[in-house]
Amino acid sequence: MRAEVISIGDELTSGQRLDTNSQWLSQQLGDLGIRVLYHTTVADDLDANVQVFRNAILRADVVVATGGLGPTADDLTRQALAQATDRELQLDADSLAHIENLFRRRMRAMPPANQVQAYFPQGSQPIPNQEGTAPGIYLRIPRPDKPDAHCFALPGVPGEMRVLWRESVRPTLQKEMGLLGKRIRHRVIHTFGAGESEVERMLPGLITRGRVPQVGITASKATISLRITAMAGSEQDCEALIAPTAEMIYEKLGNLIFGEGEIELEQVLLHRLGDRNETLYVQEAQTAGLVSHWFARTSAGAFLGASIRVSPAAERLENGPAVARPIADLISQAVEDARRLQSEQATDWALVIGWLGSAPHGVDEPAGPPRFPVAACWHGQCHSTSFAYNGHPDLLLIRAAKQAVNWLRLLIEDVSERE
Ligand code: ATP
Ligand code: MG
Repeated sequence: MRAEVISIGDELTSGQRLDTNSQWLSQQLGDLGIRVLYHTTVADDLDANVQVFRNAILRADVVVATGGLGPTADDLTRQALAQATDRELQLDADSLAHIENLFRRRMRAMPPANQVQAYFPQGSQPIPNQEGTAPGIYLRIPRPDKPDAHCFALPGVPGEMRVLWRESVRPTLQKEMGLLGKRIRHRVIHTFGAGESEVERMLPGLITRGRVPQVGITASKATISLRITAMAGSEQDCEALIAPTAEMIYEKLGNLIFGEGEIELEQVLLHRLGDRNETLYVQEAQTAGLVSHWFARTSAGAFLGASIRVSPAAERLENGPAVARPIADLISQAVEDARRLQSEQATDWALVIGWLGSAPHGVDEPAGPPRFPVAACWHGQCHSTSFAYNGHPDLLLIRAAKQAVNWLRLLIEDVSERE
């Protein structure tokens, strides 16, 4: 079963407005177990719309379109759908009464243009719209050698579209596509520390289409997540399908995994400190306060505060060209700072993220990417490391901040295990 989502409007194809309807509808269709194969965005142009609907009906079993149902001359969806399926437009008396009534309640005369909103391609069912004037359209289209295509046209206004989806389209699809009594469950497992392809390599054969339960992999801001999806008659059956796969993922990925569902790395760390009844103070340089920002917005009592070091550029200008200090020096400095801060701030943990330094290299070896030091002290016991600062510029800062947070998370686990 495959679906196509169509978004209609000049404001979308001209780049004035971002098409959020497709995103939302695709998530909803996915939750029903219906795979979306195509997104099509088309301008307010009749011929183009007719073409788009013809294509969609041929290649998708479920078609959901939004936009172009209004009363103005550039709202062409009803004509396009009629033309694409060789049907006449017919007046629906109930819909006309609904629209007239709406204007009467607003104490306004109905503009003649609004009458077109009561016309529907022959054989279609109006989808009532209590939120606005434009009813949606449901058209079931017979196809040679294939089951009927189910085509829905909904208003473009996101709020109206969602109500019509929930109240009419979703229940209709569940009934017509034999999805009633089917449940879908997802379980999302987050990892940090290995790349997408590396994670995939650690899980041979798992991320293949058609596997039951299905496992998908996505990367978002250097966090790699695995999404397990199962469809079954009940939630318990779904969970039972998912459990062995999740277990296998835990076994293979170990402490690369930091959490599940709606959770971020920094929340996991602070909750862990909360459980241990411990506090944390942070000093950061290269990551420009990002780690502190993450900790501060996570409402958990463990985070005591932070100091952010600004760029040493001024100092560099006075002393001539900037020369990167060797990373080994910077690591020692970070450890020293962490040790001092841990006692000065009367905290259980102090985390220090320093400036970039140069990586060690041999006489004929080229220098590696610059590295930044990370150090942490826990009641006088100090640990340190450094990470390479490279990769895509958009992700540099975020990855560096997550590397530091993840390193501390693992250190806390280590300390807990040794207790
Ligand atoms: P109306 O009766 O309000 O004219 P309509 O079905 O004709 O409804 P449009 O005119 O296409 O819908 O869009 C109405 C509003 O919804 C506009 O503000 C438009 O920018 C917004 N909109 C339309 N399509 C989308 C979309 N795919 N994603 C986000 N917003 C959208
Ligand atoms: Mg409109």
